[in-house]
Amino acid sequence: MAASDLATFDRPQQSDLDRCVHCGLCLNACPTYRELHVEMDSPRGRIYQMVQVSGGAAISPSYVEHIDLCLACRGCETACPSGVQYGRLVEAARAEIENKIRRPLRERILRWIVFRRLLPSRLSLGMAGALLFLYQASGLKRLLGLLGVLPARLRELEALAPEIETPFFFAYYGKTLPAEGERRHRVAFLGGCIANISFARLNEATVRVLQKNGCEVSIPSSQGCCGALQVHAGIRDVARELARRNIDALLEGGFDAVISNAGGCGSTLKEYGELLEHDPEYAEKAKRFSALVKDINEFLASIELNPPMRVLTLTVTYQDSCHLAHGQKIRSAPRKLLESIPGLELREMQLSDLCCGSAGIYNVVHTGMAMSLLKKKMDSVNATGAAVIAASNPGCMLQLRAGVKKFGHGQRVAHVVEILDQAYRASDGKPS
Ligand code: SF4
Ligand code: SF4
Repeated sequence: MAASDLATFDRPQQSDLDRCVHCGLCLNACPTYRELHVEMDSPRGRIYQMVQVSGGAAISPSYVEHIDLCLACRGCETACPSGVQYGRLVEAARAEIENKIRRPLRERILRWIVFRRLLPSRLSLGMAGALLFLYQASGLKRLLGLLGVLPARLRELEALAPEIETPFFFAYYGKTLPAEGERRHRVAFLGGCIANISFARLNEATVRVLQKNGCEVSIPSSQGCCGALQVHAGIRDVARELARRNIDALLEGGFDAVISNAGGCGSTLKEYGELLEHDPEYAEKAKRFSALVKDINEFLASIELNPPMRVLTLTVTYQDSCHLAHGQKIRSAPRKLLESIPGLELREMQLSDLCCGSAGIYNVVHTGMAMSLLKKKMDSVNATGAAVIAASNPGCMLQLRAGVKKFGHGQRVAHVVEILDQAYRASDGKPS
């Protein structure tokens, strides 16, 4: 079936819209409604607008604005007693906008570069990573900062940009790393897209912890970007191509699980079955693929963890990734892993599952709203007095690092698996 045929399904489905009874019980769970107190920027209001469009109303600039301002965090989905699948609705609404509306030229160029050229291509990511690394490591970034010549908007964006980590994780592609001790599981690991160049050490830590726990870890070289950011932006033709590529690369490898360490990616990988449900060649394969996908927290919490771990005297607070908590419904696994580390004290923050404002590239496009949410998130973090903020999604980690610089008390931001790795490495006598 051609991509244009599949696009005919890319609009909110009546059966999904009909589930909403407009009770408003989701309003308080919605970050944009909590900030603005505007009905049209609440889940109920957005669904109401989708119903209007579905009934023949024009896709107006105001509709696009309200749908764009949604973080797609799915907090409303957790709060909804009627089982409205809001994530499906907003992704479909964005796809419909993408297919029917011509956005302003600047937006079109930005979206084309990021979603169609940069993220799906290992070569483009590697080149962009190398350039950014030169900028960050050569002293140019520091010099421009000292001279104060960057315009305010660029300074804002720079604070959100990832630190580039060399060597890139791409170096592991095509390798299979052995289990430590007896092999109990064979798993494949997905390195992500940007994570390969900006979270390379996190990916290495993930592989080490898996090996430590009896996993042989394959990193197939033909894997690629999962397509999550494209799905959230409504660019489903690219997302489908990426999904097919990953299915071809991983499905028949005989793996016990396909592991992701990013809540946002894992959520989309688990929904390949929906993304390709109308593709006659891939529908069944996509369902099988999605059933194999496990978030790293979910996987580790389901197996018996190997001792020994050294005592880590740390106070840690955990920030739920929206797509892990609301998308994949995984909340207890990361907490269980953290609490398994001797000496670690977990301190819960208020509203840990309210979005921090990261939401893919939302913080770059809607910086004002994202910063306002981040300020409140950091108030909750600061109130715990914890020295470490644990998270389970690289995008949240970037946002929280910016939050620490701007509103925090010098906290360290780390992925749950990095803290586990620290405990294991310390017990091995290796520098942590
Ligand atoms: S999405 Fe759910 S909670 Fe929100 S108004 Fe509709 S039915 Fe009520
Ligand atoms: S996805 Fe998040 S921002 Fe969007 S309507 Fe639901 S709760 Fe609000």
